[in-house]
Amino acid sequence: MNGLMITIDGSQGEGGGQMVRNSCALSLVTGEPFRITQIRAKRSKPGLMRQHVTAVEAACVISGAECSGLAVGASDLTFRPGRVMPGEYHFAVGTAGSTGLVLQTVLMPLLLAGGPSRLVLEGGTHNMLAPPFEFIARTFLPIINRMGPQVTARLVRHGFYPRGGGRIEVDIVPAPLGPLACTARGEQLGVSARAVFAGLPGEIAERMLARVRRELGDWPDAAFALHQVPADEGPGIILLLEARHAHVTEVVSGFGQLGVPAERLAKTAAARMQGYVQAAAFAGPYLADQLVLPFVLAGGGAFTTVKPSQHLLTAIDIARCFTGRSIAIARQDGGEHLFTVG
Ligand code: ATP
Repeated sequence: MNGLMITIDGSQGEGGGQMVRNSCALSLVTGEPFRITQIRAKRSKPGLMRQHVTAVEAACVISGAECSGLAVGASDLTFRPGRVMPGEYHFAVGTAGSTGLVLQTVLMPLLLAGGPSRLVLEGGTHNMLAPPFEFIARTFLPIINRMGPQVTARLVRHGFYPRGGGRIEVDIVPAPLGPLACTARGEQLGVSARAVFAGLPGEIAERMLARVRRELGDWPDAAFALHQVPADEGPGIILLLEARHAHVTEVVSGFGQLGVPAERLAKTAAARMQGYVQAAAFAGPYLADQLVLPFVLAGGGAFTTVKPSQHLLTAIDIARCFTGRSIAIARQDGGEHLFTVG
């Protein structure tokens, strides 16, 4: 790439932490060093937070990358990738920072590495604004596994915000990523709604589930369940709505928040699930931005998605910078958007 270092303006587009994680992942796979400035400029507390630092550290550890400027609060970072080494790695996000977002950073490099890896990730497993464990295991990884690599994830212990303390384990058997055409979700095979809670009165989970049942009136009674996990994994609660289709499973989550009534959370999550069910697209908004890296690294393929989020558009911009691939996103007659990599 012209011998010049790739420079990313972190205040552009979505302006958040995902730009840092995706840049590290792409840098490790392509061997291109990069500098990112104005990190998370669009957030109320700009600069790197603890969980972003852990993610970049993880990228350094798996490859011996050199990174200057890495610190909590830093807004400028230079990253020179090394050679990715498969193996056993243990990463702990000091706070309840998301384990799923650390996984986002190292997964692509490790699944394209020269041998298998095992990861132990400790921190938050069910955090707001991050993929919860079930989304990773049931929505995201099945698609990766169809592309070639074999990745399995186990939830050993829940970690809710703010306490954290959760643990997931991930086994990665690498293989080249093959292009996929994901344009149809296929017939619906089933639905479920689970309120998973720990260290909180069961009455909160019951109210949450009752409200979501009212909102999703056409879902069968057997779809609704409460799931209590040991109190020492809490306190915390999450509502997980799942729609299984022949080719993709969508998981919509509602994260319990102090001061937000369980009913309101249930109503919002139900509306988001209804939005997905009524659309025809393959990928919901979160899956779409997370599929950019594997599809671009596969060098081809396509998926349809709902209205593109700013995260998706920004992920596309970053992927273009590192790979020079032609990536298009175009609205289709039916209203869905088609993402293609040329
Ligand atoms: P920032 O604090 O700067 O926003 P961040 O690192 O916490 O940074 P984002 O840059 O917003 O996070 O990226 C969040 C990632 O988590 C995206 O890839 C998004 O798809 C994913 N994500 C967020 N919420 C969910 C959810 N409910 N289900 C699945 N994935 C989610």
